[in-house]
Amino acid sequence: MRTGRASALTDTGRRRMQNEDAFVCDPPLYAVADGMGGAQAGEIASRLAAAALEERVAGLLGEAAVAELIREANDRIYRHALADPAAAGMGTTVTALLVDEAAGTIAVGHVGDSRAYLVRDGALEQLTADHSLVAELVRSGRLTPQEAEQHPHRSVITRALGTEADVEVDTFSVAAEPGDIYLVCSDGLSSMIRDDEILSVVASAEASPDGIAEGLVEAANRAGGEDNVTVVVFEIIAGEPLAEDAAAPDPDEPTAEAAITVAAAVEPAAAPERPVKRHGPGAGGRWLALGAIVLALAAATLLVWWGLAR
Ligand code: MG
Repeated sequence: MRTGRASALTDTGRRRMQNEDAFVCDPPLYAVADGMGGAQAGEIASRLAAAALEERVAGLLGEAAVAELIREANDRIYRHALADPAAAGMGTTVTALLVDEAAGTIAVGHVGDSRAYLVRDGALEQLTADHSLVAELVRSGRLTPQEAEQHPHRSVITRALGTEADVEVDTFSVAAEPGDIYLVCSDGLSSMIRDDEILSVVASAEASPDGIAEGLVEAANRAGGEDNVTVVVFEIIAGEPLAEDAAAPDPDEPTAEAAITVAAAVEPAAAPERPVKRHGPGAGGRWLALGAIVLALAAATLLVWWGLAR
């Protein structure tokens, strides 16, 4: 088997002012990151994650490599947040798929609630298990999947990249088959439309990755577009793996840098909308950010006082 066509699309949606999602669609790596944090910190976090994965992926394959790439991305975001008080508490989800054509497998690594789906033989399967408050409540039997869909805290995630020095990454591998279609998406898709609607868009797009990506983003916006929505789609086809040079990116394709989409407009600072759950459904990230600002102000005041005293 080998990878065939691929497509990726990101959209701000109908409610948000900024797009804090980022993606990678650069064989053999396909990934989505959904950032969170005040001001533009969410964008910074998701961009850092996408860039870190893409820069370090060359020559790497397998689950251990995916986990290591994600941990490196975590480290980069965490250190950036420590160095920049305005970015304190920022974080991002990441879901990354790394295709090993020779082995016929796809290694998946993820943190947060961005999802990977597989469409095979006309059926849709969710490959990743969300690291979210409602998903945990559903898994423990305290919430039904239907209640989870309407839950006011359905966007609260329980694991994120960049909020702590270490991160636990879930990894697994899928044996790929020709005809498989893989989707990676942010919760702006999966929280707006149900799985059966995702499948019907895939079916109606006749397996064209471009058509699927456009159709899914449109469907999410038609359903309200309450969040940024990002979809990365690729297909697996029959055939021998391509040689290295043959697999080189098409010069007409957008560059990786261009593919990492960031809203250009600078909007006024907004409160974080996707706090990480730390000790309950509270806003751990917000307190951390507030604490950092207070500390920074105190330090600045002391410095000025010390300067004047001299
Ligand atoms: Mg989102």
